[in-house]
Amino acid sequence: MIFEFVIIGGGIAGTSAGARLSHLGSVLLLESEPALAYHASGRSAALFEAQYGAPATVALNAASKDYHMTANGGVLRPRGLMMLAGPGEEDTLERDIAAMALDPIPVEEALVHIPALNPEHIRAAAYHADAWDLDTDLLIGNFVKEMRANGGQVRTGAAVTAIHRDAGLWHVTTGAETITARQLVNAAGAWVDEVATLAGVQPLGHRPLRRSMARMPAPGGHDPATWPMIIGAGETWYAKPDAGKWIVSPADEDPVDTPHDAWADDMVLAEGIARYQPFVTEEVTRVETSWAGLRTFSPDRTLVLGRDPGTPDFIWCSGQGGYGFQTAPAASQLLADLVAGRPPEIASEIVAALSPERFG
Ligand SMILES: Cc1cc2nc3c(=O)[nH]c(=O)nc-3n(C[C@H](O)[C@H](O)[C@H](O)COP(=O)(O)OP(=O)(O)OC[C@H]3O[C@@H](n4cnc5c(N)ncnc54)[C@H](O)[C@@H]3O)c2cc1C
Repeated sequence: MIFEFVIIGGGIAGTSAGARLSHLGSVLLLESEPALAYHASGRSAALFEAQYGAPATVALNAASKDYHMTANGGVLRPRGLMMLAGPGEEDTLERDIAAMALDPIPVEEALVHIPALNPEHIRAAAYHADAWDLDTDLLIGNFVKEMRANGGQVRTGAAVTAIHRDAGLWHVTTGAETITARQLVNAAGAWVDEVATLAGVQPLGHRPLRRSMARMPAPGGHDPATWPMIIGAGETWYAKPDAGKWIVSPADEDPVDTPHDAWADDMVLAEGIARYQPFVTEEVTRVETSWAGLRTFSPDRTLVLGRDPGTPDFIWCSGQGGYGFQTAPAASQLLADLVAGRPPEIASEIVAALSPERFG
């Protein structure tokens, strides 16, 4: 059989692309791990924050919100976002307030949101309610269902080890098998440039940056269920409720030499927790578990969506960085529109800002 699309990568990028493209032709998604969403897509903070990211990302967020709210019953639950400045961080918070459309609030009001905050350290605070927990498993599950309903196939434990092109077709090797497809979608997360190289396509210079997370009991034994996410001014750390617990991230962006199964570095975690610590009254005494994932950015930190200019049957769906879930509905819709040759709903300057052609 010749598939219309073979998709490499079973994270949010590949599954959302697969769902949309399954309306256009036969789809086979290949994922090297035994399960979908094993890498970055299984390790996120699961937030939808419409103002977060470069302008083209913010446009994708805005265009995704309605889908996230309503499709298949919706995947968002109210969370709220608060940013906090310690001594000397007030100007940084001012810039965050402008960038993220936050409302300045008195420190006393911040304490109403989270009683465990330390008013002696906090110099300024800002908040908006328009930030949401995103059910990442449900979103991926919904996209996979859509793909399968249209006859799309998903294969896990299927690492692509070789790709060659012959007579206008892609021949993709996984295990002992070679799969043939007309169009190849590169949604391999941290591995996108490696996949491009395998296919003989010029890599674009994606950079996988590690971000770590520590899970711990909520400060003071509180139930944090209704607390907002909190971020240190300038995104130097963040913390968020997570199934009755509390997760704290150093907001690290450490480049890694080669993509791999990332893990948290103890020193990076300790330094991040030290930056967070003075903002709460309770000392962190115990980290129950920790993890890390690779947030993979293109050179201008904006997603890459569309056909490769030199090899048009090679389709980029990459550079999701820290925004893969929140942008997925609009990003995958745009990808399908471009592949189908339909006029995209998104403004043309945004389409250009996302196009692989921008790397010339
Ligand atoms: C700590 C952290 C917090 C985050 N918080 C948020 C957040 O709050 N909101 C948000 O929207 N985003 C967030 N993100 C970002 C989000 O998780 C990513 O943007 C998204 O998961 C990237 O999805 P992906 O499908 O591109 O990559 P991945 O999930 O990594 O999937 C790529 C897949 O490709 C597979 N693959 C690679 N090479 C091959 C091959 N040769 N053959 C077959 N398969 C292959 C890999 O095994 C992998 O499963 C966060 C990320 C991290 C790490």
